Amino acid sequence: MKHTTIISHPLVQHNLTRLRDETTGPQDFRRVLSEVAALMIYEATRSFSVREMPVRTPLASARGFRLQREVVLVPILRAGLGMLDSILQLIPHARVGFIGLKREETTLKATSYHKSLPPNLAKYEVILIDPMLATGGSAVAAMDLLSERGAKQVRMVNLVAAPEGLRLVRRHYPTLPIFTAAVDKKLNEKGYILPGLGDAGDRLFGV
Ligand code: URA
Repeated sequence: MKHTTIISHPLVQHNLTRLRDETTGPQDFRRVLSEVAALMIYEATRSFSVREMPVRTPLASARGFRLQREVVLVPILRAGLGMLDSILQLIPHARVGFIGLKREETTLKATSYHKSLPPNLAKYEVILIDPMLATGGSAVAAMDLLSERGAKQVRMVNLVAAPEGLRLVRRHYPTLPIFTAAVDKKLNEKGYILPGLGDAGDRLFGV
């Protein structure tokens, strides 16, 4: 799958299995999701552009590097929040935008109820964060909002993706880099991923 990276690192897969496990309660779910997000972000940011910058150590000058662009993290509410803190610990200078989307129960179509984003995203590396890529409706709606704000360098981090969601995103955004820990079997009639891990927001927050 071009532009889709499945992160098969043993620690990622170990943690994903704990998240899938129905006996993992909200407290552990939050901790493990946070840990897996940190592991995934290494892979997702591997291709960030860097600029060479000389640095002086206490002993000599050395070749150094800094990120070419500032970073904006955009979790999709609410489950994206579960991956935010640990990513912020690794990229503490990142800005954070938020997108709130809700799915129509009958049509499964995503509509936005909240958006807070920097005004011009063209100069940023944007990381769109949502643990579940299910129908793809939320991802496409979020990408549309980011594109309207001028975003050019966007990548998306999901924990579990459904083939249906990947197909929809690919139809609208063929070259968007997507990083996921698993591509599952299919969606059920309610738009949940099978086998998936259930409702990520409910499992995170216990409601
Ligand atoms: N959102 C979730 O939290 N879980 C799914 O399986 C699908 C969408």
